Amino acid sequence: MIAVKGLSKRYGDKFAVDKLDFTVKPGRVTGFLGPNGAGKSTTLRMIVGLDRPTSGSATVCGRPYRDLPSPLRTVGALLEARAVHSGRTAREHLRGLAASNRLPRRRVDEVLARVGLTDTARRRVGAFSLGMGQRLGIAAALLGDPEIVILDEPVNGLDPEGIQWVRELMRGMAEEGRTVLVSSHLMSEMQDTADHLIVIGRGRLAADCSMTEFLARSAHNGVVVRTPHAVELVPLLRRAGGTIDDGSTGRGEPPGENAPLVVKGLDARRIGELAGRHGLWLHELAPQRVSLQEAFMELTADAVEYRAKEEGRAA
Ligand code: ADP
Repeated sequence: MIAVKGLSKRYGDKFAVDKLDFTVKPGRVTGFLGPNGAGKSTTLRMIVGLDRPTSGSATVCGRPYRDLPSPLRTVGALLEARAVHSGRTAREHLRGLAASNRLPRRRVDEVLARVGLTDTARRRVGAFSLGMGQRLGIAAALLGDPEIVILDEPVNGLDPEGIQWVRELMRGMAEEGRTVLVSSHLMSEMQDTADHLIVIGRGRLAADCSMTEFLARSAHNGVVVRTPHAVELVPLLRRAGGTIDDGSTGRGEPPGENAPLVVKGLDARRIGELAGRHGLWLHELAPQRVSLQEAFMELTADAVEYRAKEEGRAA
């Protein structure tokens, strides 16, 4: 488990991370989201002891990273811009890391196989593509068979096959009971991978909930209704607390007589029952699936607006 309490980091007069509180639990993939500059990397760096907090604390398995007796056996991390001596081969790089951390040498070949680099283990790291470099970074993170895995933007530079591979790797590690924390700016990638989300904006916590809950909260959620009785149904829906959105269904249909309505504030069951009770026919009743991208944009737009108001008040 990772526990972050009142964690802050100030650079000059600006807080890159501002009183963050969250825990990351084992057995699931936790997505760490936020726009560029939100403070994700700074937070991850503090968790693995590469940056000192201005205040607050970050612990892994109950201890600060620096106090772990054998850090690589507890936490494996892939952070951006990992320095690798480019004249070495992938195998030499991992062997050096294993030796300096007193890890068994056999782990090197095991992790090379797990990340699909067995055939390229003798090539110099300097000649690696960005994607191969990412695989090597992940291999290094897995070397100590850690119970906690932290990956900062792991799919950067990977092709679709590589992205699929990372997704399966993360899911597999969570299923093995490990704690998996992964940051990404690729919302579509997270939607298919993460069970839980921690969202930050300008260094502050914006959401800490399950993926399902995050999507359900979005005001983008609507139900598409097609009916020949719109004239009768619309007032009934409004009286029941629903709003009728003129917005499109996202299907590119032109407005017209039989155009679908997008109803918000009522779920499909409620709408169907209302129509049934009044003998009104429905030709379609379909909940819209909101994308993580939409829900995320909505949340961060709110944060920006809120900030603007706060700053306006302060000025
Ligand atoms: P993210 O990973 O979410 O893109 P970062 O943690 O990299 O965000 O950065 C958060 C904020 O802190 C940014 O405004 C960034 O410019 C600032 N920052 C990060 N590292 C430093 C540093 N070493 N010195 C000064 N400012 C920094």
